[in-house]
Amino acid sequence: MARRPEQARGRRGAEAEGLVCAISVRHAKVLVGDRLLRCRYGFDVRDREGPFTRTVAAGDRVRIETPPRSEPLIASVLPRTNYLSRLHGPTRREQIIVANPDRILIVSAAAEPSFRPRLVDRVLVASERAGAHAVVVVNKVDLAGDRAEVDDWAGLYRALGYAVFLTSVATGEGIPELRESLSGGITVACGQSGVGKSSLLAALDSRLELRTQPISERWGKGQHTTTRVELFPFVGGGFLADTPGVKSFGIAGLEASDVAVFFREFQPFIESCRFHSCTHTHEPDCAVARAAVEGRIDPRRFESYLRIVTGEEPEAGDDSPADEDVGEDAGDDGSES
Ligand code: GDP
Ligand code: ZN
Repeated sequence: MARRPEQARGRRGAEAEGLVCAISVRHAKVLVGDRLLRCRYGFDVRDREGPFTRTVAAGDRVRIETPPRSEPLIASVLPRTNYLSRLHGPTRREQIIVANPDRILIVSAAAEPSFRPRLVDRVLVASERAGAHAVVVVNKVDLAGDRAEVDDWAGLYRALGYAVFLTSVATGEGIPELRESLSGGITVACGQSGVGKSSLLAALDSRLELRTQPISERWGKGQHTTTRVELFPFVGGGFLADTPGVKSFGIAGLEASDVAVFFREFQPFIESCRFHSCTHTHEPDCAVARAAVEGRIDPRRFESYLRIVTGEEPEAGDDSPADEDVGEDAGDDGSES
């Protein structure tokens, strides 16, 4: 077996554990204690054939070695508890957006743009799949034409056990409560553009205002050197990562039977469908469809489910164009250093 280059150099040097805040092709930005280190990838964590596009992801806990008179390197990735991923189109491999997320912050708007429950439901599926808590935010409640309607949607998601916050950056409503609920752990924020996500993040923690701008100018050698997903320390403790898109978030590649599992309120009914392989779309004696008709499953949620499994786009214009770039470098940072 070939010796690892870092072993061949002799002593392994100082060791430490750190949190990966951002990755690029040649380097990762790792928080070790209160210091951000630019680390190379060690032999064991170089990208190779496998289920994932990258071996190391933002949110990973890693072991760092600093060989004498050399840059620190990531020697290994500690086991992940969970991760949020998407299917990377060109390679058909899984692309980890953030490793070890504790919660997914789903930012939507009561108006301008109008509330889109299908998008919320898609991200809820992704959150369930990732094993992260979902926090649903309906922002711009000051612009709501019909407050009772907003409260009704909030009631639906709360009844399912999800945390829901109604916020307004304009009036400050709901902001302190939301800030409180995000303290500790890793939060991943997502939302369709225009819902006020940037404004909301800035209102939650003013330090996030500049930080969630494109990061390539502040770190690395220039444009396209770093991914768009980066973890930032959050005011109440923990970290926050912003992601640009929502559309294909963690849904791609799921079979209907998998998606149904992530609609948590379907669970009591799935067993009672006539066919074990029921997709709950057209089959006779489908207990899930019956429950939706009888109102034991909210018909709006069943409708979302059908749209997801029939591959129908949730709504036109759901995404920022940058979505395709989530978590992936637009380019290489050039030379090996
Ligand atoms: P993003 O694309 O989701 O990041 O949205 P922005 O933060 O850029 O906000 C889009 C627009 O909505 C901006 O003009 C904001 O000032 C405005 N906005 C954001 N939050 C609120 C809110 O709670 N109420 C109102 N009335 N406007 C808001
Ligand atoms: Zn069924």
